[in-house]
Amino acid sequence: MSTTEQEFTGVRALVTGGASGIGLATARLLADRGATVVCLDRDLTGADGAAARGVAGDDRLWGVHGDVADDASVRAAVEAAARVGGGLDVLVNNAGIGAQGTVADNDDAEWARVLDVNVVGIARVTRAALGHLRASGRAAIVNTSSIAATAGLPQRVLYSATKGAVQAMTLAMAADHVREGIRVNCVNPGTVDTPWVGRLLDAAADPAAERAALEARQPTGRLVSTDEVARAIAHLASPHAGATTGTALAVDGGMQGLRLRPA
Ligand code: NAD
Repeated sequence: MSTTEQEFTGVRALVTGGASGIGLATARLLADRGATVVCLDRDLTGADGAAARGVAGDDRLWGVHGDVADDASVRAAVEAAARVGGGLDVLVNNAGIGAQGTVADNDDAEWARVLDVNVVGIARVTRAALGHLRASGRAAIVNTSSIAATAGLPQRVLYSATKGAVQAMTLAMAADHVREGIRVNCVNPGTVDTPWVGRLLDAAADPAAERAALEARQPTGRLVSTDEVARAIAHLASPHAGATTGTALAVDGGMQGLRLRPA
């Protein structure tokens, strides 16, 4: 391979939560580097529905409606996605939702709802895609976990539990499928400048102060960009990471690695 630019030529990718934020940036990057990409999302016309339109006038970026919390919907969407390119080589399990509060704040129904999307959703989509990934011979799964898996973030008990589970299941899935030619890794982003975070800031009493607090929490002093997370996901999905499986890659402005924040 002479260049990293077209390393995904001929690769068929499925990105869940691909119509916004990290998922959309990842889908665009993979398509720009040669992949045929299908974005599975429950809201293709949401904050940024560009995933349904196509990249640079070509037909490498597609959208398929699907809800990762609904097994029939997932199976139909995965089969539709596999028909686009005649199979699947890369699966990015990125769809996720947030939850705020201490352990006293979330009731059983809320626990069930968020676990169902963030954790069981990954199992559902992967189960539906597994036959295609096994047939690929060069398959990679990248799950989107979070710094919340390891950082002990305040007011994020339920969300943290789901992202810890994503990291744990990433390692177990890597062990189960390594001899089938399927690598499994996850990314652990810090706070990323996405429509989701934009909505959280809009809801804050003082959005500018809240944004400054989020920026200060990261040693780099700024939010992570969607492009930075997309590039990390693309690396883990690419042949360059052929010896990497069962890892969590932090893309968090130093939150996990640097315990001491700069003054
Ligand atoms: P986003 O809200 O901008 O995009 C998420 C996308 O997922 C949306 O298009 C939404 O419609 C889709 N989605 C949600 N539930 C779905 C479902 N049940 N079925 C299908 N699609 C569904 O969010 P984002 O910030 O880009 O987050 C993407 C992932 O990154 C999530 O898993 C999130 O937990 C994780 N993450 C985000 C941050 C951050 O700071 N933004 C940090 C760490 C991890």
